[in-house]
Amino acid sequence: MIFINALLDYHTHTTHSWDAKNTVGEMCQSAVDKGITEICFTEHFALREGDPCCDYIDFEQYSRDIEFAKDVFQGRLIVKKGLEIGEPHYKRDEINSRIKGQDLDFIIGSVHSIDGVDLKDYIIHRDQISSYRGYFEELLETVSVGDLDVIGHFDLLRRYAFDSSGRYRHADFQELIYEILKKAVSRNIGLEVNTSGFRSSSTEIFPSRAILKEYRDLKGEILTVGSDSHLTDTIGYNIGSVYLMLKQIGFKSVFSFEKRKPKAVEL
Ligand SMILES: [Zn+2]
Ligand SMILES: [Zn+2]
Repeated sequence: MIFINALLDYHTHTTHSWDAKNTVGEMCQSAVDKGITEICFTEHFALREGDPCCDYIDFEQYSRDIEFAKDVFQGRLIVKKGLEIGEPHYKRDEINSRIKGQDLDFIIGSVHSIDGVDLKDYIIHRDQISSYRGYFEELLETVSVGDLDVIGHFDLLRRYAFDSSGRYRHADFQELIYEILKKAVSRNIGLEVNTSGFRSSSTEIFPSRAILKEYRDLKGEILTVGSDSHLTDTIGYNIGSVYLMLKQIGFKSVFSFEKRKPKAVEL
């Protein structure tokens, strides 16, 4: 029997993201219905030309919606305001000036493109090794200089490359993965465990258990868990079972964030 006092979904999108359909209020209601105790909205933001997230979000309206939801759901659901920044190393000074004063609780840093090319397009004419190498090199850039609290869906490329080239071998990218994790630990950047991997054809979590274990061996502790929901249906998806898996790997806590400061929530 597992007893979980808190269920936190730290990766969700609403109509403030170009690719999501439900409002902040609808997502909050669904979270309450599903027994989620805390939700963090992580709307897309990126400044790469050609990226559909580029300049999509209206920060003022986003703030108003978050404040309204905090009021309406007070006592039933903790609501946090975050962003998922695509390639936070790219135009990082401009990103910093745009998000300054936005009073964010949390930032996920994600790689959705390599050398300015969308992941799905990048892999079309490349073999498995060069596709993943490109991806992890871009991620190393992100973690080295970006302003982020956690690395989003660490080995996301698997979502797109799995059907054409199957499962990648951790050993083929051991050094790069190790460098990324070491850099993350040294900059106090955590990992996001993203349960949308269960909904992709590889049916595994992002990142892989091997990466999570290596992060723990490097004394990394900061983890958030998120469903990457773009619809009400998937809020909280498999988060309880991931908590159990993290406990088995040896982690003692997941983390919530307030004004960019991590706080441990015991598993
Ligand atoms: Zn993402
Ligand atoms: Zn996302």
